Amino acid sequence: MDGIKKDYVFHRDLKKKYPIITHGEGSYLFDESGKKYLDACSGAVAANLGHGITSIGEAMAEQAKKAAFVHTMRFETKALHLLAETIGKMAPDHLNKVYFTTGGSEANESALKLARQYHRDAGRHQKHIVIGRWQSYHGNTIGSLSAGGDVKRRHAYTPNLLNYAHVYSPYCHRCPYDRQKDDCLSKQNWTCVTDIERSILELGPENVSAFIAEPIVGSQQGAVPPPLGYFKKVRELCDRYQILLIIDEVMTGFGRTGTNFATEQIGIVPDIITFGKGVSAGYAPLAGMIVHDQVIEGIIENSDGKFIHGYTYSGHPVAVAAGLAALDVYKQDSVLENVKKQGLYLFNRLLELKQKHAFISDVRGRGLLMGIELVKDREQDLLFDPAEKAAERLNGIAMELGAVFYPGSGSIDGTKGEHLIISPPLNVTKTEMDEIVRILDESFTIFKLQLRK
Ligand code: PLP
Repeated sequence: MDGIKKDYVFHRDLKKKYPIITHGEGSYLFDESGKKYLDACSGAVAANLGHGITSIGEAMAEQAKKAAFVHTMRFETKALHLLAETIGKMAPDHLNKVYFTTGGSEANESALKLARQYHRDAGRHQKHIVIGRWQSYHGNTIGSLSAGGDVKRRHAYTPNLLNYAHVYSPYCHRCPYDRQKDDCLSKQNWTCVTDIERSILELGPENVSAFIAEPIVGSQQGAVPPPLGYFKKVRELCDRYQILLIIDEVMTGFGRTGTNFATEQIGIVPDIITFGKGVSAGYAPLAGMIVHDQVIEGIIENSDGKFIHGYTYSGHPVAVAAGLAALDVYKQDSVLENVKKQGLYLFNRLLELKQKHAFISDVRGRGLLMGIELVKDREQDLLFDPAEKAAERLNGIAMELGAVFYPGSGSIDGTKGEHLIISPPLNVTKTEMDEIVRILDESFTIFKLQLRK
């Protein structure tokens, strides 16, 4: 760290030092030694348009010069309305009202609270419990952490967590309910669905306010899409028991999976969609939720139109400017088309890698949110011990070679295992994609040699 004498920074791992980044350009980041890294995970699946886009930077600077901050409890800006309208039009029918936050955790926290308030003010006073899924991540605030299933992050805060319930999400490759995929799908009797109903009945439907899920499981399992029809069954259950369905699109929203929202692909209309990351392509902290008309009508009717909640930086003008400029780039550059094309290419290239390396037991995902499950040996179905930190180590090798991926590790019962997410910027080129696969290939070869030692 040239010129840095004493380290005052406190982030997740106080013992670790990371490369100091000086700038970024397209899909690449550069550190102070001049080394470049292909950003094969868009940071944390956030820098979805890559780095150094002048139009976004300029839009933010313009807004900062005009009025960097207005408090949305007193004032509004035209840009705020324009951004909300643009997002509302991208969302499924009937989801029209947009509430802004700065991050995905806050977005989910807001959604959980809105669900509670919606029921309470309509006289369903008891409805307060949320059902989430073990293989999920919804954020780090107490509410969102309580809803999510990241056992390692939950552990330290167990006494503080809310009494939310959890079920397993479908993972047909390694079913947490020990069902055989063909048997389960043909009989249409899915334990991953019946377990939700069991949980609702056990808790008492009068106590359950919301069910929250990622449409494609992200960081906790590595880009796992649900079997076709799963969310239709979930929607039916939510309707039957008056439970709001919150779909967390913080990672999947804004084209990441080949459609504006992954919700389009799961064929349902949720009550709330939460978003983050891609909305500003990582250029500013911006996130939020899009709410169904029916919920909004309930809040207007029963709560005098007041959502008992709020953040200082909700709808921050500079973040809003970043969002508008980013959404413009998505449109101008036909990013969705690129995601579909490059996503298919990446999927096929990863299947080739699977043939070559016994470490890969599964390749899955949608669009440019791809995941590979890592095992010690595919033929023997031998899993890595989480303590071996296989995904983290593999990513370390890749970083040495000049690409960065999104590793995930740890397991509560073998349903999670080790995985790597490959999620380059959505405007990635085929040449860059080939480089990603080449570096991954080399990383596996080096990893194998290291394991032998
Ligand atoms: N929800 C999902 C699906 C996420 O992937 C994340 C972050 O990775 C979050 C919520 C939390 O978002 P943030 O880190 O912006 O608070």
